[in-house]
Amino acid sequence: MRVVAIDGPAGAGKSTVSRLLARSLGLAYLDTGAMYRAVTAEAMHRGIALHDVEAVAAMSRSVSIEVGERGVFVDGRDVSEAIRTPEITVNVAPVASNSAVRADLRDRQRAWAVEHGGGVIEGRDIASVVFPDAELKIYLTATPLERAKRRAAQYGGNVEEIAAALAERDHRDMSRPDGKLQAADGGHNVETDGLSVDEIVHKIVGLLDHDESLDDPDHEKGS
Ligand code: C5P
Repeated sequence: MRVVAIDGPAGAGKSTVSRLLARSLGLAYLDTGAMYRAVTAEAMHRGIALHDVEAVAAMSRSVSIEVGERGVFVDGRDVSEAIRTPEITVNVAPVASNSAVRADLRDRQRAWAVEHGGGVIEGRDIASVVFPDAELKIYLTATPLERAKRRAAQYGGNVEEIAAALAERDHRDMSRPDGKLQAADGGHNVETDGLSVDEIVHKIVGLLDHDESLDDPDHEKGS
């Protein structure tokens, strides 16, 4: 099973890069952030209080969550657009820090990888917790200003305000006890400032080839 784990802060370009990388490697692609967003959207849809740890976890375990090319569905309900609203972005934190939800989604992510023969999987804790044995672990970063500029170019808005919102989300993602955002052991830091998406993908494919050649006993002999 071939797993490429892509973690990093919000706005570092994980989704765009992961999707392209998956295509160029012929692997499936999974956006795990969409799963946390989907659980948040469903809890809000059902009127479940997000800080009610037990109720949110019970709901999470009881529904089907589909994240794929067709969109994002919870029990067949299309939440593709709902999960991208600012309302969900600001409310996802209590769900992401709910350990029982994390355990449920982690199991689903592992099952998804088995079903798909691996894949390019992006999130916050993919290399550190979900797939510590991934073939390649990437920690994708960019400076806060660069990330805010990219968001502004994509969705509009004021760069300074976006930078403040991203910093707040990074802080929360890095400080929760379970599944926090961090660079994993044995991973590669890829700094993306000033690089195009194609250049980033090229760089990651190069790291994959390099790591493979290190595993190859003939590599030492220079053959
Ligand atoms: O990647 P995206 O910004 O869509 O993720 C939304 C939120 O889901 C993140 O801010 C983070 O709190 C949470 N998340 C997580 N673990 C993951 C992926 C996302 O906690 N593996």
